[in-house]
Amino acid sequence: RRAAAMASRNFDVLRSPVICVLGHVDTGKTKMLDTIRRTNVQLGEAGGITQQIGATRVPAEALKERCRKARNFDPDSVKIPGFLIIDTPGHESFANLRSRGSSLCDVAILVVDIMHGLEPQTIESLKLLLKRGTPFVVALNKVDRLYGYESNPQKDIYQHLKAQSSNVQLEFKERYEKIVTEFAENSVNVALSNQNKNTDEYVSIVPTSAFLGDGIGNLLAYIVDYSQDKLAERLAFCTELDCTVMEVRSLPGLGTTVDVILLNGTLKRGDIIVLTGTEGPICSEIRDLLMPAPLREIRVKGDYEHYASIQGAQGVKVLAKGLDNVVAGLPLFVCRRSDELEVLKADAQKQLEKALTSIKKK
Ligand code: GDP
Repeated sequence: RRAAAMASRNFDVLRSPVICVLGHVDTGKTKMLDTIRRTNVQLGEAGGITQQIGATRVPAEALKERCRKARNFDPDSVKIPGFLIIDTPGHESFANLRSRGSSLCDVAILVVDIMHGLEPQTIESLKLLLKRGTPFVVALNKVDRLYGYESNPQKDIYQHLKAQSSNVQLEFKERYEKIVTEFAENSVNVALSNQNKNTDEYVSIVPTSAFLGDGIGNLLAYIVDYSQDKLAERLAFCTELDCTVMEVRSLPGLGTTVDVILLNGTLKRGDIIVLTGTEGPICSEIRDLLMPAPLREIRVKGDYEHYASIQGAQGVKVLAKGLDNVVAGLPLFVCRRSDELEVLKADAQKQLEKALTSIKKK
């Protein structure tokens, strides 16, 4: 099966890495998402950032523009088509995902408040990431709260830190070193991203202000480089389907729909799908595939575009009959041959049992 998966990989076509944001409450996860999503027309930042189903797509053009702020970043080196960022920090689906072998998220951003250091949910997220082997980068957030800090979101954060008053630099150093120790207490070696020579052994830290935008260019640039250098094999487009249900939603006129993250492979209208339901496996046919229309000046709510076929990585709304009892956080399978159906149904049932055992364990 692995050989078959390798054969169907195409290393010339990389898909967008899926990125999720984790961390303790109030560290700035939501603000971070907002700042990454914001297209600043005045600053000439490339547009095309679109809000998807449960995710935000940041296309390569927008990434290049933002990453330009990071020193030594070469915009021409960008090979990925963009990022797909999961919108809901700490989504309930991540709990279900614990029970899965594969992981929905290619790279995680672990947000830490520089004033508070590692907090209980930070440590919980950290353990989850280590257990799943998900690569992550630490955003050391709220650097603007260092006493006397002067913001400049247009600059490389490391050059900018060097230009701060000596008191600010001293406070940064003290707080940073304390946090390095806290990570070490949790068996994780960390280093500032511009000094990290060994990203296999050391997790990178990027100082940020999600509030003002400082360091966000460095953070995105780091993730672009890391994805292309270290995750190329994983990101090589693969025909094998990897699709996870994020949300089950009833919409007027559409009935019950499922919002999925299609990580890899292709979904098509007319595909026979198998999902996990509370009352047993659910088998249905895809009636339509929807994605939101690109952001316009005035966003018409529920303004979707229809697709006959969609290739990962994307956030997609799937329309089909009989989806009422679908369980979120679990995979959606596509049945390509009639003799696969019973196997997939059994797989879907197994997913539910696994999810239930992992909930009971907690
Ligand atoms: P979440 O619970 O992790 O999603 O945190 P939020 O994004 O809701 O942020 C919590 C609070 O911290 C809000 O009042 C934000 O405005 C504030 N905040 C977030 N990021 C920053 C930052 O970089 N600097 C400062 N000073 N405040 C921030």
